[in-house]
Amino acid sequence: MTLPLDRAALDALAEDLASRLRPLALPERLALIDATVDGRLVFTTSFGLEDQALTHALRMAKSRAEIVTLDTGRLFPETYDTWAETEAAYGFRIRAYAPEREAEERFVEESGINGFRHSVAARQACCGFRKVEPLGRALTGAAGWLTGLRAGQSANRAETPLAEADHARGLIKLNPIADWTREVLAELIHENYVPYNVLHDRGFPSIGCAPCTRAVKVGEPERAGRWWWEQAGKQECGLHVSGAPGSEIRQGQEPAAFEPAQSATRQSSESSSTKTNPELAA
Ligand code: SF4
Repeated sequence: MTLPLDRAALDALAEDLASRLRPLALPERLALIDATVDGRLVFTTSFGLEDQALTHALRMAKSRAEIVTLDTGRLFPETYDTWAETEAAYGFRIRAYAPEREAEERFVEESGINGFRHSVAARQACCGFRKVEPLGRALTGAAGWLTGLRAGQSANRAETPLAEADHARGLIKLNPIADWTREVLAELIHENYVPYNVLHDRGFPSIGCAPCTRAVKVGEPERAGRWWWEQAGKQECGLHVSGAPGSEIRQGQEPAAFEPAQSATRQSSESSSTKTNPELAA
């Protein structure tokens, strides 16, 4: 197939591909994707367990898929360690897409370094410039986007297919381990000595930016530790939902758990007290 395809053709291709992928083991799935998606193939990794399994399988299969990451600038040190270990183990460089400097500086100036805690809209704005916009650049000209999404990760992802049409981006989105359980995933990681993020051993089944991820408690869903202060079921960063960042948020949806934004008066009084703090002035 050659992209771009019209809407109906993209849907038909995704449906056909999903049904052909279903009975196959992972190496055969990746080979079929390589052979069927004619054009640039991009895998975006965030170095979680799913993505590490896919990186391993792609490297073993000598897939032509480019392996890239979105470096938000707010990742855990352990995630950067996993990134470096992965490059060393498989002998290749993972291309990083970083936020646009001006967008980051503007957000920090206007909202504060942790301004994403003020509201759902502010959080999605932060995910917008740190993740969604860089993702757009990473996928420019791509015919296929490989992800490590699994249906078992959360209720939001329960219907994740093996292949789907991404009409907004005009490509086929491929989720070759969508039907895997966490147990199967862990087995592949351990049997093949795949490097993985040590935070998984400390109660973090899902790992994103450091200030927006906590360990889960016993019995909680895998993604309960992501943006835990928001309402359950709404915790997606915008990479895997349609519509612009923040477009789903309506007035009054923000729960009381959000920290109020500092008022201009308070900010100015704080900055003046900082200026007159004798310890800082020394
Ligand atoms: S996860 Fe948190 S820090 Fe990372 S981009 Fe989203 S709001 Fe910003």
